[in-house]
Amino acid sequence: MKITVVYDNCTDEIGLRTGWGFSALIESGDAPPLLFDTGADGATLFHNMKQLGIDPRRIGTIVISHAHGDHTGGLSDVLEINKDAEIYFPASTVTRLPERKVIMVSQPIQISEAVFSTGELKGIEQSLAIKTTKGVVVLVGCSHPGVGAILEAASCYGKVYGIIGGLHGFSDFNRLEGLSMICPCHCTQYKSELRRLFPKQHVTCGAGLELEL
Ligand SMILES: [Zn+2]
Ligand SMILES: [Zn+2]
Repeated sequence: MKITVVYDNCTDEIGLRTGWGFSALIESGDAPPLLFDTGADGATLFHNMKQLGIDPRRIGTIVISHAHGDHTGGLSDVLEINKDAEIYFPASTVTRLPERKVIMVSQPIQISEAVFSTGELKGIEQSLAIKTTKGVVVLVGCSHPGVGAILEAASCYGKVYGIIGGLHGFSDFNRLEGLSMICPCHCTQYKSELRRLFPKQHVTCGAGLELEL
């Protein structure tokens, strides 16, 4: 199982572009990859995909965490060249895509063998619970429903190993005790505090980050 950050506010890698937004790719064996969110714009998303050797036409599933532009901005460009991917929107999304395979998610749902949605929480956002050999890895967009609520929802799929994605203004740091991996990305306000409080668990996020789990 591999998670690659494709789009983020930051990067350490020369040749990759940054933008205010988030997107990550989940790959498992030879199965068509799953794209989680699409960043704020297609140009940056495609540039980074090309640099990272990702072919957007191979993506089999697209999951949108929530309907904010910094997560949906690249979607129309991806759909233009990929006609077959299934799309999972949180139920409150107003966009309709006739003639596409669209699943509106309200309740928790299995998406692939190892990937589950928490369901739409607090009427705004879904997150992913990914079953890995190390435990459940939680992939989040902006964490608008609150990191605590997301971790609780994801924990029904097993012991949570780690969290990666945008944590927004999350500051209830005790809630992360017991996790083995904390990778704050995108809109996370308290990145330096998380690095200081969890030096062993902390992983620096950025476009190009690849996590083998
Ligand atoms: Zn965001
Ligand atoms: Zn947002």
